[in-house]
Amino acid sequence: GAERTKNVLILMSDTGGGHRASAEAIRDAFKLEFGDEYRIFIKDVWKEYTGWPLNDMERQYKFMVKHVQLWKVAFHGTSPRWIHSLYLAAIAAFYAKEVEAGLMEYKPDIIISVHPLMQHIPLWVLKWQNLTKKVIFVTVITDLNTCHRTWFNPGVNRLYCPSEEVAKRALLDGLEESQIQVFGLPIRPSFCRAVLTKDDARVELEMDPELPAVLLMGGGEGMGPVKKTAKALGESLFDQELGKPIGQLIIICGRNEVLANTLRSLEWKIPVKVRGFETHMVKWMAACDCIITKAGPGTIAEALIRGLPIILNDYIPGQEKGNVPYVVDNGAGVFTRSPKETAKIVADWFTTKTDELHRMSDNALKLAQPNAVFDIVKDIHELTCQRGPLTSMPYMLTSSFSGLI
Ligand code: UDP
Repeated sequence: GAERTKNVLILMSDTGGGHRASAEAIRDAFKLEFGDEYRIFIKDVWKEYTGWPLNDMERQYKFMVKHVQLWKVAFHGTSPRWIHSLYLAAIAAFYAKEVEAGLMEYKPDIIISVHPLMQHIPLWVLKWQNLTKKVIFVTVITDLNTCHRTWFNPGVNRLYCPSEEVAKRALLDGLEESQIQVFGLPIRPSFCRAVLTKDDARVELEMDPELPAVLLMGGGEGMGPVKKTAKALGESLFDQELGKPIGQLIIICGRNEVLANTLRSLEWKIPVKVRGFETHMVKWMAACDCIITKAGPGTIAEALIRGLPIILNDYIPGQEKGNVPYVVDNGAGVFTRSPKETAKIVADWFTTKTDELHRMSDNALKLAQPNAVFDIVKDIHELTCQRGPLTSMPYMLTSSFSGLI
């Protein structure tokens, strides 16, 4: 018979650029695979329905990652389960009604969390509402390796891990093997299915057609030693003897407008393009031969899909630390904090060490998981089918839980 459209609520928060990107990737893949069978809502329930400190996470996170030591303490200090559970329980008790209203407004058949702090409280709400058996709750982890333990909640129907390392940690933290799937980090379908040649991309982006190109960036916020690295590349990619450039430089500053303006005011001996926040990263990556970035999981996964060797020049302590060995140990890139060394490596890759560049590019492609996002939505679809008629209109029978606390 005619199936009712199912509601999918994706819980995210704009802490960094990666969570929203993952949420949108999942939404787009649902659309491509299943059309109107699912209606997708992407929500920051905290921001919309709670008060301090949950509605303020974006600002607090930005502040803390700028003051790296603070973030280290926050990340590692909250690692023991009793600490973060207690903290989250207190908040849950305080904002229970608001979060409940926020979640229930969308009458979700499926809830997908792509944020480390969005399992405990929503799962409690489902329990209070007696909906645990009716609503499917899954978590999609968006850190490649050393993720925070709040990601692991044994109450989920599925936990999607981007790598075997994360799956191992989930098992240690009490999840069952049957709950875990390893497909990879969800990346926007436009990225995975793009069939753009380097030549075409360069024409479109008005780049030099011949010179090898390096892409320099620092996540959605333009973080890390971008300015110093750009200046060092401006020197190393210019051949003094021949008096001409051996490469071109693309700098994408994201939302960091101060950085973009500073870089635009400089004089360059090589072809350079300075850009702000770009909505078509796939084109820029297609047009380049290697990438320099902080160890953001989104950027890394995207670069791997495009076969770009990666120079990691920074990481956010805690969740991004493990991304470094993930790239380096798999031969897809190198790590150095020194802008000079970075500039030297790129110059070598473009001249005497092209074989190394090609080898790393092959390794990157081997590590890439372009189908992860489709595997994830298909698996969620299967879970939904297994639930069968149970999912039809769960919300008509339930009474409000307001008043229980
Ligand atoms: N990004 C983008 N345009 C920009 C800069 C970044 O679309 O100008 C995207 C990038 O492609 C990636 C995400 O923002 O998908 C950054 O995620 P990542 O995990 O690398 O770092 P975060 O910004 O979350 O710290």
